[in-house]
Amino acid sequence: MAIVEQIDAPAGARRRLRISSPVTREAVGEIDVQTAQDVGAALEIARKAQPAWAALSFGERARYVTRALHVLLDRHEEFIDVVVRETGKTRLEALYMEIFASCDALQYYAKRTAKILRDRPQRMHLLSLMKQLRIVYRPLGVVGIITPWNGPFILSLNPTVQALMAGNAVLLKPSEVTPYSGRLVADLFEAAGLPDGVLQVLLGDGETGQALTESDLNKISFTGSVETGRKVAEACARQLMPCTLELGGKDPMIVCRDADLERAASGALFGAFMNTGQVCCSIERVYVAEEVADEFIAKVVEKTQQLRQGANGEADIGAIFRPEQLELIERHVEDARAKGARILAGGRRNPDLEGLFYEPTVLTDVTHEMAIMRDETFGPVLPIMRVRDEEEALRLANDTRYGLSGTVWTRDKHRGVELAKRLDVGSVCVNETEMIYGVTEAPFGGLKQSGIGQVNGEAGLRGYCYAQPILVDRFGAKREQAWYPFTAKKERTMKRIMRLLWGTPLGRWMS
Ligand code: NAD
Repeated sequence: MAIVEQIDAPAGARRRLRISSPVTREAVGEIDVQTAQDVGAALEIARKAQPAWAALSFGERARYVTRALHVLLDRHEEFIDVVVRETGKTRLEALYMEIFASCDALQYYAKRTAKILRDRPQRMHLLSLMKQLRIVYRPLGVVGIITPWNGPFILSLNPTVQALMAGNAVLLKPSEVTPYSGRLVADLFEAAGLPDGVLQVLLGDGETGQALTESDLNKISFTGSVETGRKVAEACARQLMPCTLELGGKDPMIVCRDADLERAASGALFGAFMNTGQVCCSIERVYVAEEVADEFIAKVVEKTQQLRQGANGEADIGAIFRPEQLELIERHVEDARAKGARILAGGRRNPDLEGLFYEPTVLTDVTHEMAIMRDETFGPVLPIMRVRDEEEALRLANDTRYGLSGTVWTRDKHRGVELAKRLDVGSVCVNETEMIYGVTEAPFGGLKQSGIGQVNGEAGLRGYCYAQPILVDRFGAKREQAWYPFTAKKERTMKRIMRLLWGTPLGRWMS
């Protein structure tokens, strides 16, 4: 049974989907797939609502966002219930990843947007005597936000808050696998009293997402797979609509010979198995220096065997959110096994649990001929490869079409940073699992096929704006030197200025 199933609907009616729990396999609910017509109607409402929203001060917008934060603090248990019901995450995981991180995003942008996006005077290197320049951050208009199922609340809420604080209206399309977690974002802001039409959630699958990318929006902020990201980029390119693409990864972990192996082994587990490995920046492959490989692997296996799996109580590892993902994980592990990999832990569905549970898995003797080292697995699977030295680790780590993030583990922090600079990825952590998405100040994004553009922090917030420079003349002279009429005298003066500015030490200092 699929977790998302299409239900027969009468001819001419909207398509309808049934969503089921990956843990109990019981129905969670049914949704109508919203069509291009629905998207068009929502866009019309958003266009009408946006100017009044943009006319509010940052402080006024922040008051709604702060109210949303208080609603979340009050009702977080109820929100966790919704997320857990349709994802099979453990409750603590939902608290960490979805609620805690969302509270931080709400507070961060409510408190700091005014400072980051305020109109600012900009000194000019040449013209300051005669002109004044201001940079004004104007909202783009109506932004479409399309999100995946693995962090269904935080990945919907975080870009939404940024787009709203910047003065945009938002059409949010959460994943069809987790529509109720996505809809919580609208519930939250409705409870906070957000004016009607400023944020609308459209439920549905690829049909709804595609309709958004083909609408007359002002930007698409997309988070999801490389395959869909490419379609979104093509649709946006056709209408010259800006987009950011936050896509998949195959993130490497490099364990140097001088690493603290106890910390590195615990970090490998958390980095690879958090959210059941369904995190874009999960550790997906490990390169460990030969001298310490045996000790590191032994620690990883021992710790993996202690992990508790289940959906309730104090379980560490939850469910796989959908059967297609479980099948892909099985394919990767079987491909590796068939090509000579050794499975040191897990390597199968959990026979003691009824839902979609795959045991946390550790493999060695893996090579780059195996899908498990090349393609995104997105599951609780940790393949470990021995390498001669850091040079070989770097070469293999960069031997991929992905470039989202990576980690380096060494007691020499300086060398760690130097190695980090040579990883061809969007962000790196040294002696820490990849947590940059949760560091609100840090721009987050991917290189190569892992994406285009960056989200979060100042850069992310400004990505929801158009930076408009406004130049104002200071003195109101009747005519400028460069204006008509063109004369030989003006030509001589211009040449003298050029020589002064770029041909003399004084000029070079001034310019
Ligand atoms: P997906 O690409 O299948 O779906 C993402 C969203 O796109 C869903 O809402 C889906 O309905 C919609 N969609 C499908 N077809 C569309 C189309 N033609 N046009 C527009 N929208 C369409 O991805 P997924 O399986 O939901 O998510 C998992 C992927 O997301 C993984 O690859 C993961 O690495 C990636 N991801 C990336 C980040 C990041 O920040 N880089 C974060 C989380 C997840």
